[in-house]
Amino acid sequence: MASGRRSSRISGFYKMPLEERVGLVADYAGLTQEEVELIRSGGGLSLEAADRMIENVLGTMAYPLGVAVNFRINGRDRLIPMVLEEPSVVAAASNMARLMREGEGIRASSSDPVMIGQIQVLDAPDMEAARRALGEAKPRLLELANQQDPVLVKFGGGARDLEIRVVESEVGAMIVIHLLVDCRDAMGANAVNTMCEALAPVVEELTGGRVLLRIISNLADRRLARAEVVVRGEDLGGEGSVDDIVAAWAFADADPYRAATHNKGIMNGVVAVALATAQDHRALEAGAHAYAARGGRYRTLSRWSKNEDGDLVGVLEMPMAVGLVGGATRSHPVARLALKVLGVSTATELSEVMAAVGLAQNLAALRALTQEGIQRGHMRLHARNLVVMAGAEGDLIGMAVEALIESGEIRFDRAQEIVRRLKG
Ligand code: NAD
Repeated sequence: MASGRRSSRISGFYKMPLEERVGLVADYAGLTQEEVELIRSGGGLSLEAADRMIENVLGTMAYPLGVAVNFRINGRDRLIPMVLEEPSVVAAASNMARLMREGEGIRASSSDPVMIGQIQVLDAPDMEAARRALGEAKPRLLELANQQDPVLVKFGGGARDLEIRVVESEVGAMIVIHLLVDCRDAMGANAVNTMCEALAPVVEELTGGRVLLRIISNLADRRLARAEVVVRGEDLGGEGSVDDIVAAWAFADADPYRAATHNKGIMNGVVAVALATAQDHRALEAGAHAYAARGGRYRTLSRWSKNEDGDLVGVLEMPMAVGLVGGATRSHPVARLALKVLGVSTATELSEVMAAVGLAQNLAALRALTQEGIQRGHMRLHARNLVVMAGAEGDLIGMAVEALIESGEIRFDRAQEIVRRLKG
């Protein structure tokens, strides 16, 4: 099916009936009838595929798959598939993307997709001699690493460098080798772990020590994605609003209790795209939070400031270890479909999109918190969850939601009372 629409700016998307939304996205991304059916099936993963993916499988569990609209990243419009269970996130991303598409839109960039593999060496009799020997053997070690993954090398990736560190620890000093590997379109954990394991015997020979761990680091600080944006002050409610957002960010950057929640808001967006595209979201979370603490204190992943024109400037930079091959990215049919909707052709492009979504999500939270507070936007959805929990079904849901909001007390006991009364 040829793709019919190129703009992601879609007003009233949320008001369209579900079928119409699917049709629009299918047209946008050129989805086949089979792919449309896959979305409609509500889960998209067969029991056989699930059984191959992990162990002790009993079944599958479905999450909502939504699409954030309005995104323009590096001049290109994108619809963003998001999978998560939390209300308001998709709406907030779409809203902010609408403000962020003005002017230059969101600009995003990324480093090379370089991951770090760690090799821990214990009991080296002479640390200095071991360091020297490893340094001299670097070309041989890199070649040995690359022999493990000719496919990665063929695609332009492979082992790039070797760094030797001495780490003081509770059990004394140890040598820690960092193997830097360009993983191209793979997240790279398997690729890097295989390389580290292959180097171990040679490392023992060279150092006279004993290799213990050989494993990727999730602090992927050589694989960074960055998104930047300028949002007009007037679109946010004027200079006072811009100052408030900067003050809210400054609070988070200065106080880890707030920074954790600030960064959680960023991860709402990042992880939702990660789930839709079957990334290792634990790896992303670990990388993000470790990176936020890299200076010895846990800080924000983003920065917000005011420019000379009184506009808001936002920058997000974070590790983004994502892949288009490997893991479940190719084996999960919905993930393949989500990547098609996104229209990304490399893992670095995906990482840039995810940084842009994280930045939008972050601003949405900051704006809500500095303006009406977070609960107002959540109220209707929260009320809906409560009345469903209290047993409302069908038409009764809408009536119970209205009654609960009207009551001014969005609480479970009130929801139960209202549902009981309406059921009569
Ligand atoms: P993988 O080994 O399944 O696939 C990567 C391989 O695909 C590459 O090594 C390469 O040989 C090949 N390939 C084909 N085309 C490529 C291209 N264009 N670019 C790059 N490689 C290409 O997967 P992986 O990415 O090495 O590992 C990811 C998996 O490892 C995830 O499932 C993750 O959950 C898991 N894992 C994570 C950790 C961790 O994060 N700590 C540890 C262990 C395993």
